[in-house]
Amino acid sequence: MMFQSTRDAGAAKVSAAFAIKQGLAADGGLFVPEEIPSISREDIEKLCHDDYPTRAAKILSLFLTDYTYDELLADCKEAYREDSFVGGAAPLAKIRDGLYSLELWHGPTAAFKDMALQIMPRLLSRALVKCGEKRTALILVATSGDTGKAALEGYKDVDGVKIMVFYPVDGVSRVQKLQMATQTGSNVNVCAIRGNFDDAQNGVKAIFSDAAAAEKLDGDGYFFSSANSINWGRLAPQIVYYVSAYCDLICRGDIQMGETVDFCVPTGNFGNIFAAYLAKNMGLPIGKLICASNVNNILTDFLRTGVYDRNRHFHLTMSPSMDILISSNLERLLYFVAGTRKTTEYMEALKNTGKYTVDADVLAKINETFVGYYADEAETAATIRKTFEKNGYLADTHTSVALACADKYLRDSGSKTPLVVASTASPYKFAADVYASLVGEKPQDELKALDMLSASTKTEIAYPLRDLDKRPVNFDTVIDPKDMLSEVYRYLAR
Ligand SMILES: *Cc1c(COP(=O)(O)O)cnc(C)c1O
Repeated sequence: MMFQSTRDAGAAKVSAAFAIKQGLAADGGLFVPEEIPSISREDIEKLCHDDYPTRAAKILSLFLTDYTYDELLADCKEAYREDSFVGGAAPLAKIRDGLYSLELWHGPTAAFKDMALQIMPRLLSRALVKCGEKRTALILVATSGDTGKAALEGYKDVDGVKIMVFYPVDGVSRVQKLQMATQTGSNVNVCAIRGNFDDAQNGVKAIFSDAAAAEKLDGDGYFFSSANSINWGRLAPQIVYYVSAYCDLICRGDIQMGETVDFCVPTGNFGNIFAAYLAKNMGLPIGKLICASNVNNILTDFLRTGVYDRNRHFHLTMSPSMDILISSNLERLLYFVAGTRKTTEYMEALKNTGKYTVDADVLAKINETFVGYYADEAETAATIRKTFEKNGYLADTHTSVALACADKYLRDSGSKTPLVVASTASPYKFAADVYASLVGEKPQDELKALDMLSASTKTEIAYPLRDLDKRPVNFDTVIDPKDMLSEVYRYLAR
């Protein structure tokens, strides 16, 4: 299985290892598999008897053919260990008849990024060997909170890589700061910046494009790399849990083999829902994919009109991981529906004017599978409360956006097809807003909000967020943005 760019059909195809090592294609496009492998009913039946790591290794082996099955199985077993994913890697909870929650947040940072970031660094580590790369990859991350922690947990103690995370000293929540300051691992470094997120981000960008720094690093046996969310190594592992959810529905006798299931996905960068599209095209009996957005509803508009227009107001919401105006992975869908030439045109227009319009036949093809809905802040809060009161199910703010959209879809379509909502964060990850949605008043102290939510709902705090203030602080360095590169050198010289 080889990979090509979404933009240039004529360029040389590359192996999975190369695509993962490189991240972005040379022409600025994203790597996509040259064909989509298929799974048969018999394959799905067999997967039903497997545990999550085995399901993951089997699905990944269809796409990552330059990795051996044994390599993938070893990596999946390490990544989805029971002590990292407490309660299972992607358990399926029933909310009510016909409506399920696929819980993707049982990992070490209590959010769905763990599903990909626990395995991707291991795939990268092997990719370096497969590509003959002798140097160590130094991953630099600027974070406004959650991505940095998920990356630290994913890369810690993985061979062939080191990771360094920069965050704005006053720009992250108390919980997020504690999560990063108490990070463990032999190959990690965390550093606060006197400045905001943009200062941290610009600092990292400046280091990435600093030729002298790259040369010095090369001499010391390192090269810079990023933990980018559009890397194929982050997307492929997300296909697995859709297949796994389908198997679980069969195991518990809730559906028959071959029966259609719909999925509703709270969407930001379009990575999660695009993985579902790949699963469908592999042959998994998926009907509709409901793309759920918050009031940053650029995708809802796109799916209804074919116009993608980022020239609009940006809203800060209580589902911040979906506050996005450029959904990078949508490019992969455009490639599969419209081909490289049109995709390149659309992306050029987006870059130059912030807007593009797809042809009517392209939109029609997209709408065969995708429907768009959005939920505003009041609907999101009301859905958290209603779902807890009526169904005894506690959802986080992102999951609640999807639940609200699922309700709208069911109302409009009258569908009786079983529907699975992707649940992307533990309610404790956004405890203050979840508590406020239930009780009315938003706690000021986020750490206290965890206990308050636990007491009022009689549920347990997700393990990664428990006793954060009792863990030893391993990182307390604070620097000026101009000293970021020297901090990198200092870390590597240690
Ligand atoms: C990243 C994230 C999303 C959005 O997923 P995409 O793959 O970017 O569409 C939704 N919810 C949570 C909690 C996230 O962290």
